Amino acid sequence: MPTLALADMNQLSESGIDFVDEPYFESLLKRKADPGRIREIIAKSKNKEALEVEETAALLNADEPELIEQIFDTARQLKKDVYGNRIVLFAPIYVGNYCINDCKYCGFRRSNPDSVRRTLTAEELRKQIEMLLKKGHKRTIAVFGEHRNYGPEYIADCVNEIYSVQVGNNSIRRVNINAAPLSHEGYRIVKAAGIGTYQVFQETYHHTTYAKMHPKGTRKSNFMWRLDSPARAIESGCDDVGLGALFGLADWKFEVLSLVAHATHLMEHYHVGPHTISFPRIRPAIGVTIKEVMEHDVNDNDFLRLIAILRLSVPYTGLIVTAREPAALRKTALGFGVSQIDAGGRIEIGGYIESGDAQAQALEKAQFELGDVRSLDEVICQLLNDGYIPSFCTACYRLGRTGEIFMEHAIPGFIQNMCTPNALTTLQEYLTDFASPETKAAGERILKQEFDKIPDGKRKFDILDRIERIRNTDERDLYF
Ligand code: SAM
Ligand code: SF4
Repeated sequence: MPTLALADMNQLSESGIDFVDEPYFESLLKRKADPGRIREIIAKSKNKEALEVEETAALLNADEPELIEQIFDTARQLKKDVYGNRIVLFAPIYVGNYCINDCKYCGFRRSNPDSVRRTLTAEELRKQIEMLLKKGHKRTIAVFGEHRNYGPEYIADCVNEIYSVQVGNNSIRRVNINAAPLSHEGYRIVKAAGIGTYQVFQETYHHTTYAKMHPKGTRKSNFMWRLDSPARAIESGCDDVGLGALFGLADWKFEVLSLVAHATHLMEHYHVGPHTISFPRIRPAIGVTIKEVMEHDVNDNDFLRLIAILRLSVPYTGLIVTAREPAALRKTALGFGVSQIDAGGRIEIGGYIESGDAQAQALEKAQFELGDVRSLDEVICQLLNDGYIPSFCTACYRLGRTGEIFMEHAIPGFIQNMCTPNALTTLQEYLTDFASPETKAAGERILKQEFDKIPDGKRKFDILDRIERIRNTDERDLYF
């Protein structure tokens, strides 16, 4: 295993300032806007314009049932207009859980004696990926603890290894990473390996809570190094970044406001917003006393409300709800904002092979407990029965439609002209190669229904041609 020096934490980005103006955000969260102003803000977001921090605060403070309902309705509409009925699917691959940090909420934290430490060998990683491919996955996110063993060169090697695995004519087409903050040089190294999104969660934007959760002296206790990491990633060429906060640590309204401030900060400085935002809620984990970390429990209603408000505030940013959440709640969240979910994921290191298809979770090997442990096929079947198009599309980043360029293209029509056809062809791949009979029947219904909606013309002809080739030949990966 390589031993690498960890990056110097003083080299911030050019935009490296602490934009989390806590007193200001807190004052905004005390100010209530009148219903007329709220309606104006809702109208602005209907126009698919990103909202300012002040406008987001006004939505967060709107507690009249009628206004909340309007926010949900608008989120539903925006979701339809910007994303159509596609849902992008991925699965995580946990590579190693050694960690030098001591985050109080995490099962992998270094002081947890109950955590079983392990890093997959290259061979084990290949075997895990083979299993993902056999189930039908095309997109993965590789997850790492923070440790000198997991430096950028090591992460890049893992990404290359994942891309190189082939099962029949299938391989992983997009590898995202969730890893500790890197230096500019580190980001250049992982970018050169062809990562899709670089995802890093701030955990909490609230300074005091951040300090409480990340003990002094650990690398992660450096708030600014972490806050600045998406900016450094963008400056180094990783222009698809994923932001997130771990909900339950601090006031949810404050975290939403800060996430929007973070998106605005990136937009202002780099003309590119985050590709995705995640909002995991804290889950039980072995060796974690939930009561000690979850001072601001977010109930399901508020959780759904925060998703809807994010949908209005950052209309072109993908929203992710992971299998931390139970199936029923994920289903509801899909209706008004969420555009990406993981499915059939195992978060124990080695879990795809060693746990088989068992639903039981080996908690001592996992970072936390999952809420939705259905298989990929079960999730796809439900999506189809609910009228969604499950998508494994990876075309945009492979064709260079990322970052600022993606922003330019992220206009109604363009995304749907590219994304819906790619969703349909990747769905056809899944149905032909992996689906259970029930899923196949549901999928054929959706394919026909969606195909009938496409206006006659060359694009329709091309889509049909590709679908037929996938059905009748070994040709795969035919994207627009
Ligand atoms: N070590 C890297 C870091 O901290 O950035 C990334 C890996 S960590 C395995 C991925 C994310 O899981 C963390 O950023 C945190 O938000 C989330 N997480 C940690 N403990 C959790 C818990 N008990 N419940 C839910 N999510 C948790
Ligand atoms: Fe380590 Fe990340 Fe867990 Fe913190 S959240 S203990 S950095 S794996």
